[in-house]
Amino acid sequence: MFTSVFSDLGDKFHHYKLQTYFFAFPVGIVVCILYVIGSLGNSGLGTYVALGLIAQLGVFTLLLYFWPHLMRFIEYVFYISFATSFFALTQISINAFYLHGGLDPSELADVLNSLSMWMIVFMLGAYLTTDKGFVRVLILYIFTVMIVMAAGNLWVLFSSGDLEFPFIFRWVNPFASISIATLLIQRMGVLQQSYASTDSLTGLLNRRALYQVLNIEMERFVRYRKPFSVINFDVDHFKNINDAHGHLVGDEVLRNLAQLVRNTIRQVDYAGRWGGEEFLIILPDTDLHAAGFLAERLCVALRQSCYGKVSNVTASFGVTAYQEGQNLEEMLYSADSAMYQAKQNGRDQVVVNGISLHEVG
Ligand code: GH3
Ligand code: MG
Ligand code: MG
Repeated sequence: MFTSVFSDLGDKFHHYKLQTYFFAFPVGIVVCILYVIGSLGNSGLGTYVALGLIAQLGVFTLLLYFWPHLMRFIEYVFYISFATSFFALTQISINAFYLHGGLDPSELADVLNSLSMWMIVFMLGAYLTTDKGFVRVLILYIFTVMIVMAAGNLWVLFSSGDLEFPFIFRWVNPFASISIATLLIQRMGVLQQSYASTDSLTGLLNRRALYQVLNIEMERFVRYRKPFSVINFDVDHFKNINDAHGHLVGDEVLRNLAQLVRNTIRQVDYAGRWGGEEFLIILPDTDLHAAGFLAERLCVALRQSCYGKVSNVTASFGVTAYQEGQNLEEMLYSADSAMYQAKQNGRDQVVVNGISLHEVG
């Protein structure tokens, strides 16, 4: 499954990526051509690697142009083969350095720095465009090769008595920058994902994240027959709270209510804000009976709570369990009509799929 940080943009995401590659690949070709021109007369191997990269980028561009649906395959090949080519270039430069007079230390440092800078760019690219599984493989691959190469080269230098601190530093430097960049990229992705799925007022899931969870739960039902239920609730006469105490107090009530929900549900449940003063709780592995029981507990806890100036906050709850063959809209409609019925029946109560529950305690 496609799970990049931006993947839920769907077709737009595909389009953005195509645009990016149609810009980046030709730029890559130009950079490689400049490299080939710059290295003419120097070590032949590096030139061949660069020529290989030019050919690859050219082929990728053409493939993407004529068969854009091959994008994912092209991305995988691109990132792995480019990382490999960069390692080859690194080793070629180091070999040139071993041959005294081939490359001097500052030239070697230049090469290592510029290759590690590009490696960071590629990591970022892979993180933004491919899926988590592939990024993991790529990171593992890059770090394994880096460690093996570092160990091998340091060993050669150590054996020949050429190992000095400045040289060790030249290895540590790219290691440090690539490691820190990897960590930052990963953190950035986590933040990005949490911003994209969190409601800013309450800190609960937002509507988009709720849809994602519902889709996953429906898939789980189809595959493993795992039941799940949802509770839909809407604060009663919330307009009156705003009118009496102001919008800011209204916001505070919503935040406190969210906290109450978090304290009441299990770790595995998902609570989100559907919009305004309406909330949705998704309960995996939960049948209608257990879901109704939880809704009843929430209903009572809310009624008994007091938020500063505001007391007697109540809500109307609709509960439903997913039925085989339902689509998402049908399930949500069922929860919504149960909630609507709770409002009709006089609010501050739970309706489970058309059956009104007696208030507890
Ligand atoms: P009912 O019992 O029928 O649900 O009555 P109600 O007053 O809760 O319903 P209505 O839909 O008429 O009003 C909802 C109000 O919730 C109106 C809107 O201004 C307020 N509201 C929606 N979102 C927010 C918010 O983020 N903060 C605050 N303070 N108020 C909000
Ligand atoms: Mg309301
Ligand atoms: Mg409402």
